[in-house]
Amino acid sequence: MIETWKRSELDRLKKAYGVEPSKSLGQNFLTDGNIANRIADAAGAGSDDVVVEIGPGLGALTVTLAQRCRRVIAVELDRKLLPALGAVVAGAGNVEIIHEDFMKLRAEDLPERFILVGNLPYYITTPLVARAIELAPIRSVFMMQREVAERLLSAPGKKTYGAITVLVRYHCVAELVINVSREVFAPKPGVDSSVVCLTPKRTTKIQPETEALMFRLVRAGFDMRRKTLRNSLARIGYPEATLLAAMEEAGIDPVRRAETLSPEEFYLLAQCLPKKVQ
Ligand code: SAM
Repeated sequence: MIETWKRSELDRLKKAYGVEPSKSLGQNFLTDGNIANRIADAAGAGSDDVVVEIGPGLGALTVTLAQRCRRVIAVELDRKLLPALGAVVAGAGNVEIIHEDFMKLRAEDLPERFILVGNLPYYITTPLVARAIELAPIRSVFMMQREVAERLLSAPGKKTYGAITVLVRYHCVAELVINVSREVFAPKPGVDSSVVCLTPKRTTKIQPETEALMFRLVRAGFDMRRKTLRNSLARIGYPEATLLAAMEEAGIDPVRRAETLSPEEFYLLAQCLPKKVQ
């Protein structure tokens, strides 16, 4: 099996299997084995671990992961890539390829404990990150376009802070692993990338009803991010007096905007509101 992924290997596979990268499926293949190694290092996968890979493509990351962990489950949507991918991982003996849309996989289709890794397709990065959080892996290490990484790593009050930041920062510790130049992909994308590691927080005593309400507040708040909370949250349907009383109890000034609230403040506000709109 290939030890370190190289540009020449990608070129050979493209030629041998007649692969035409699909833009609509976000196929920008990694050409540099050193970056694959950095991603595998951050994933921390050892000989007991199962790694689920989103979008293995032609196997740049898959071969690197397969050398380090017990098993790789590689979920690829594009049927046209499967013959080349199958040939690349044939010698490994610990790679299972699933031809499926990762968004359609259910928790029951995956092992109980796994590390999630992917050089994510650009067109669907945010939904994949949100789905990854729901599936609660041991940790996730994702390559994504720099601009999305900046949103995940953002903080209240910054322009890049949004609903996806609250979701990620509420559930996980998010860390930048490495910035990656567009030059290490083929075809070369129009933007640079970053690798981000998401480690779930060990949250206890979370009330599911409060959490569900919290994310309704987040959506309403960021849908109208230029408005004050008093106005943006009004459309959820609580009487104004109820909303104002909850904000006072939570110590949140009603003239603040959603983009200034930390995930913890959103949760606190949800705790202070009745769970049903009366
Ligand atoms: N891992 C490879 C690499 O690093 O060279 C390929 C990465 S490429 C940016 C994204 C891959 O995700 C492509 O192979 C694409 O076909 C696949 N893909 C796109 N949408 C997908 C989905 N919904 N589920 C699974 N794979 C998907």
